[in-house]
Amino acid sequence: MLVKTLDMHHSVCVVAHRYAIRRSAAPEGVSRYTWLMVERSVAELPKAHLHLHFTGSMRVSTVREMAQRHGMRLPHAFTTDWPPRLSGQDERGWFRFQRLYDSARACVRTEDDLRRIVREAAEDDAAEGSRWLELQVDPTSYAPYVGGLTPALEIVLDEARAASATTGTQVAVVVAASRMRHPLEARTLARLAARHAGEGAGTVVGFGLSNDERRGTTSEFAAAFRIAARAGLSSVPHAGELLGADHVDVALEHLVPDRLGHGVRAVEDPAVLRRVVQEQVTLEVCPTSNVALGVYPTLADVPLRGLLEAGARVALGADDPLLFGHRLVAQYDSARQDHGLTDEQLAELARGSIRGSSAPVAVKAELLGAVDAWLGDRPVTG
Ligand SMILES: [Zn+2]
Repeated sequence: MLVKTLDMHHSVCVVAHRYAIRRSAAPEGVSRYTWLMVERSVAELPKAHLHLHFTGSMRVSTVREMAQRHGMRLPHAFTTDWPPRLSGQDERGWFRFQRLYDSARACVRTEDDLRRIVREAAEDDAAEGSRWLELQVDPTSYAPYVGGLTPALEIVLDEARAASATTGTQVAVVVAASRMRHPLEARTLARLAARHAGEGAGTVVGFGLSNDERRGTTSEFAAAFRIAARAGLSSVPHAGELLGADHVDVALEHLVPDRLGHGVRAVEDPAVLRRVVQEQVTLEVCPTSNVALGVYPTLADVPLRGLLEAGARVALGADDPLLFGHRLVAQYDSARQDHGLTDEQLAELARGSIRGSSAPVAVKAELLGAVDAWLGDRPVTG
């Protein structure tokens, strides 16, 4: 068996592409060597990634390079003090998060920048076993640099097609409106998304609603979501992270979601959680985002087990690695380390991400088969 990489600092060892060294202690009666060799690598687990924002997907090194090229000054949180320490629990904390986000977004100024972000998001996802990525973008901020909303979206879609062909991760796009802007702007974006609706990589497959959940009135965005739904797009708004189960209920009522960005706080009301389960809404759970924004004090407090035990379909996502310092595999690692999920349960999470995705039926079938292969490929036990 070949040792592919060995990183003593993190005590991680990837063996023959497929297994990683366990970081937990060996149970009694099991030799440490045997225990070390039997963990499947979650990076090799085939999965879909359904919650990743365009700007937030950026590598910190890329933001630094773009800032330098465009003569922008970056806050320390992106230079000497990365990743930033955040809190979203009060207005001030969210304002700081938003300001950092804006300063990263301000470094994205050209078509090449847009293309690079898509390409690197696909490369980084490919390295983490993500075979289907739905990248969430609000083209509004980039439109002025490339001649309007339509060119901004078309550049992203074109690069999504190109990256899908080269990386092994198929990249589709979710167009997301902002709660901070007027609902009429959301309708404009929904019409734009509808014109580019399609199936498969390089098309728009969903319509979202992002930004501070406490701002704006959710029901006022219903018209935009109806436009998107008529074009066959999935409804994938954020709800149930900064606000609790009541807001999940409001989103269910007015936006008819196929998935909810986060939705974790549905767990606070059994009736709302039952509705989530009954309506087969996939929850895009992003543990490191929840902790970074102060929604839960630690990763172990994220109610992953509660959601799963209630029968909710969960798809783990990274949300904004640039701000939170962790990508997709870290979310699966947390499920294993902090919640004690078995390989079968991790495989079920991956299946949840695939089933909850907007991937074409044939792609879903292929990926589900690949999950079975990951699980069926028995690890070495001695
Ligand atoms: Zn998000």
